[in-house]
Amino acid sequence: MAIDTDKIVQAVMEGSRIREEKGIIPLFGVYLSMISVQYYNKISFGFEKKMGDDDFAEKLLVKAGQECGYATFQGVRSSWEWDEVVKPMIEDVEDQIHCFVSIAIAFGWGALVVRELVPGKKLVIRAKDLYEARGYLDVYGQADAGKCYMVRGITAAFMDLVYGGDYPDGSFQYTAVETSCEAKGDPYCEFIARQAAC
Ligand SMILES: [Zn+2]
Repeated sequence: MAIDTDKIVQAVMEGSRIREEKGIIPLFGVYLSMISVQYYNKISFGFEKKMGDDDFAEKLLVKAGQECGYATFQGVRSSWEWDEVVKPMIEDVEDQIHCFVSIAIAFGWGALVVRELVPGKKLVIRAKDLYEARGYLDVYGQADAGKCYMVRGITAAFMDLVYGGDYPDGSFQYTAVETSCEAKGDPYCEFIARQAAC
């Protein structure tokens, strides 16, 4: 069975109507919340600017995205909603990645597409309208390097989850780069995850 992205997105959207009194959304085995992208970008890019010219802040933000993606999507794939809605579509291990991407789209992270998947070796995700790229452009103007740290981290996290070994020992087995970014003036953002150097 092919992966039905629309069905997955619809399940997430339906489920996200349920809010706890503090606005927390319990869904797909994890706790989600709505957050203003301007607020998020102000904190993360403000942090990067304050940290100075080296790439220490960038590395931390990518690492945070990867760690968050690893734990979040482990929760997602362990949930009853996954078993009920997503699992029946999965025929091989690679399908998990396509399902993760469908859920990331539903989370509002951007229009993500899997461009290439070489099992165990390489994952290429292309995306448009990512909130980090848009937000950076709006506030700071054109960047000289990729700015989509969160999706860069989760691209590697998806490989960690599927090929990195049993949870929680499989984290940071893969690493990702952003080879083009809308914040730099490129027509799309593109991320490539490969096995991390030992
Ligand atoms: Zn980007």
